[in-house]
Amino acid sequence: MTRITNHLPTAELQALDAAHHMHPFTHAAGLAQKGARVILRGEGCWLTDSEGHRILDGMAGLWCVNAGYGREELAQAAAAQMRELPFYNTFFQTTHVPAIALAAKLAELAPGNLNHVFFAGSGSEANDTNIRLVRQFWAAQGKPDKQVIISRRNAYHGSTMGGASLGGMAAMHAQGGLPIPGIVHVGQPHWWAEGGEMTPEAFGIARARELEAAIADLGEDRVAAFIAEPVQGAGGVIVPPASYWPEVQRICDAHDILLIADEVITGFGRTGNWFGSQTMGLRPDIMTIAKGLSSGYQPIGGSILSDRVAEVIGGIEFNHGYTYSGHPVAAAVALANLRILEDEDLPGRVGRITGPYLARAWAGLADHPLVGAAETCGLMGALQLTPDKAARARFAAPEGTAGLRARERCFANDLVMRHVGDRMIIAPPLVISEDEVDMLVARARTALDETLAGLRADGLM
Ligand code: PMP
Repeated sequence: MTRITNHLPTAELQALDAAHHMHPFTHAAGLAQKGARVILRGEGCWLTDSEGHRILDGMAGLWCVNAGYGREELAQAAAAQMRELPFYNTFFQTTHVPAIALAAKLAELAPGNLNHVFFAGSGSEANDTNIRLVRQFWAAQGKPDKQVIISRRNAYHGSTMGGASLGGMAAMHAQGGLPIPGIVHVGQPHWWAEGGEMTPEAFGIARARELEAAIADLGEDRVAAFIAEPVQGAGGVIVPPASYWPEVQRICDAHDILLIADEVITGFGRTGNWFGSQTMGLRPDIMTIAKGLSSGYQPIGGSILSDRVAEVIGGIEFNHGYTYSGHPVAAAVALANLRILEDEDLPGRVGRITGPYLARAWAGLADHPLVGAAETCGLMGALQLTPDKAARARFAAPEGTAGLRARERCFANDLVMRHVGDRMIIAPPLVISEDEVDMLVARARTALDETLAGLRADGLM
């Protein structure tokens, strides 16, 4: 067989990919017809593909390459740790220095009394941990019926059986017999799509009160926890109305429901603070982390627990763990990554400089005829595509037709943006410069112009 390297022609790489590699969230037969884009290298915010295109990565990989591509220090941290101790587990009363150092660092960075870390290999795994953990938290205190976890429709919490059940994605629930029992979903604070005639403020309160109504329905002695992303990511970068989170926090406090903030996307500087909980003013009992923890250089995630939760779970034997919980190489790379975020003050830069800069530039796209709303939070952004701004109308064609076309036009203009239905979203590396933000917005505008022309030509608008 030919040795498969960067030097093979793109068509050959694509054919091999189609023959043997099953992609996540992909219609394989459809992809095989056009061929997957082959990415070879990354530097800063830029990718190079096998055709030599230099592409501006508006999605930081999959919301994770916070420190940008090409960080030599991280490669060195991995190599050094592999030489010293490539693997050891943290089961059976053993530990190692990278896990100790990373846990201690996370306790220092996380707000409030979130001081204890249970490591996992990914965000999905960490959320599976959380399901068992919150249920056991109450069972260990003589409340074995306090088991239900409330989540939200259109939330994303992972792709494992537990993670996808917590998530509120109908298309995921439709495959494989989900959700698992004991998970209840309430409405999301997505004013543009679902707010009707209400003001955003009134809608934010109404959606928070759906949580309170669900608790009343179930009985508060049956509800273990509420889980949510501070800002929904995969659901379409949905920034909740300002009224939403204070009301949710009040409800969780009033009914003694644990609050799990899924910070897999919003953690590690994305919203202009170290954690989205700080930006939104939350006091979670548990935080889910992954992605930006290592800037995606190694697969690692975890749950950060408050003193209260850790004390209870620490008082029992928690029969749970992964071979790679606290993997030494992943932990060493994560630690080196946190040092970069800290030394370069990337969370602060997003909060004070690039976040506000993007907010202004992005708001400029709101005058485009296709754009019904242009929203950001730190370095996350969304453009809601609509055929009629004033009516907040959706496209008649199947949901996502305009979005898919816009994403294709972004690709054609060497910009990675993702679409969720007819919403275009970005989350670039936190190292993006102001000039690169200008480039991103200019390319997005070109893609929107081309999308609009195409929709008009095909009579869809
Ligand atoms: N939670 C959130 C909020 C996420 O965005 C994701 C991934 N996009 C996950 C959990 C799952 O993380 P992973 O893909 O690392 O399992």
